[in-house]
Amino acid sequence: MFEIKQLCKSFGPTKVLDHIDATIRQGEVVVIVGPSGSGKSTFLRSLNLLEMPTSGEILFEGKEITDPKSNLNQYRQKIGMVFQHFNLFANKTILENMTLAPIKVLKKSKAEAEKEAMELLARVGLAEKANAYPAQLSGGQKQRIAIVRSLCMHPDVMLFDEPTSALDPEMVGEVLSVMRDLAHEGMTMVVVTHEMGFAREVGTRVLFVDEGRIKEENTPEEFFDHPKNARLQEFLSKVI
Ligand code: ADP
Ligand code: MG
Repeated sequence: MFEIKQLCKSFGPTKVLDHIDATIRQGEVVVIVGPSGSGKSTFLRSLNLLEMPTSGEILFEGKEITDPKSNLNQYRQKIGMVFQHFNLFANKTILENMTLAPIKVLKKSKAEAEKEAMELLARVGLAEKANAYPAQLSGGQKQRIAIVRSLCMHPDVMLFDEPTSALDPEMVGEVLSVMRDLAHEGMTMVVVTHEMGFAREVGTRVLFVDEGRIKEENTPEEFFDHPKNARLQEFLSKVI
């Protein structure tokens, strides 16, 4: 689904991504862990071209997306992204939040968009919140909405950047559970998280990003039980 070749990103003199090579296949759940400031968000944002690479190539479904001729909007529609802070429109109801893009971008009828949104809301147990405003919801509820709002666009892949980091501890589980269900349905996912339990249980592959490079990459079992890189060993000793 993604082929990333020699991806570099600098902000001024600061080199944040340093020759990253990675492949993400359909149906994989790739979990990215690493210290704060190591470039995880920048990497994820590059996949979506929210950050333009300084050099290197990103192929998505075989097409070079960094090509100036590629249709950025069409491409971004295929990629769902969920951030730490939910980014819901505060002045719109949950249903309006979910149907805005399908109506505007996918040209769905209001009725059709609402029907689909209601089905997705029901799936995450939030159908009764359709006419509520974001401020009336808990953090965990808002993040579940942010996930299903992305799904309304039928993305081919979902990117998650620390989706549970801003939540109170008792709400982390309900969000991870929605993500687990999505993974089991076969969604391709790239997840930056500090939830090592999720990485081990749901991840098909775990990457350790440190100083803008992928320093280790393995199955969850090997990654957690037999880490090889010294920086990863140190990192795991602090977070587990
Ligand atoms: P992580 O998500 O692993 O914590 P980030 O990708 O957010 O790391 O950031 C990596 C480094 O890049 C940090 O040193 C950060 O300060 C820097 N950085 C990120 N975005 C910008 C930006 N827009 N301008 C300048 N520096 C940035
Ligand atoms: Mg980050």
